[in-house]
Amino acid sequence: MKIIFIGPPGSGKGTQAKRIAAEHGIPHISTGDILREAVAEGTELGKKAAPTMASGGLVPDDLMIGIINDRLGKADARKGFILDGFPRTVVQAEKLDGIVGNGTEKLRVVQLLVPDEAIVKRIALRRSCPQCGAIYHLENQPPANDNVCDKDGAELVARPDDTEAAVRKRLEAFHRQTMPVTSFYKTKSWLREVDGTGPVDQVFERIQRSLV
Ligand code: AMP
Repeated sequence: MKIIFIGPPGSGKGTQAKRIAAEHGIPHISTGDILREAVAEGTELGKKAAPTMASGGLVPDDLMIGIINDRLGKADARKGFILDGFPRTVVQAEKLDGIVGNGTEKLRVVQLLVPDEAIVKRIALRRSCPQCGAIYHLENQPPANDNVCDKDGAELVARPDDTEAAVRKRLEAFHRQTMPVTSFYKTKSWLREVDGTGPVDQVFERIQRSLV
């Protein structure tokens, strides 16, 4: 199964993509996670991407396409994958078509619908584990113990690009550059629009139903 998740920042893409990946036994490929790892390790890619990411802009297409080309070439992605955060532009979507080739009839594109007003509030309360990447929401999905990860006990942090200014810029990039990607997939009838509001378990069920 090949699945693409599209949604504004803070729409629950990462949380839901991890669950769907575990349920279907396919790798969860998050371009945001790959970039954050590169920044933490101080690689050339990380150095190039860091300023753009911090401001909430989009990293150039050629860099992103190179990353995805390498990642989808790995053995574990042959039986399927879930892409979280890619493609974010029509150029990326067109290139992805070329990379996944003839199997594209099995592609499912899930668009999570969450209104902008809800996003800004959600992101302010988002925390993640710097060690294992688990995502929490202080109101809707809090950790069992204050500010520490349930899985490994690490102290939870807010992402550096979760400031209000960066979030507004990310939302703007989403509407201007990523929404046209949904039209691209709509014309191919691969798009499933799913209501991303409400409890995490309910959204998960809606996504599962949309994938059949
Ligand atoms: P995310 O974790 O998906 O919200 O991604 C965090 C940041 O990484 C984004 O705000 C962008 O700066 C960058 N990024 C991730 N994926 C892409 C992509 N496909 N194209 C361009 N920039 C990306």
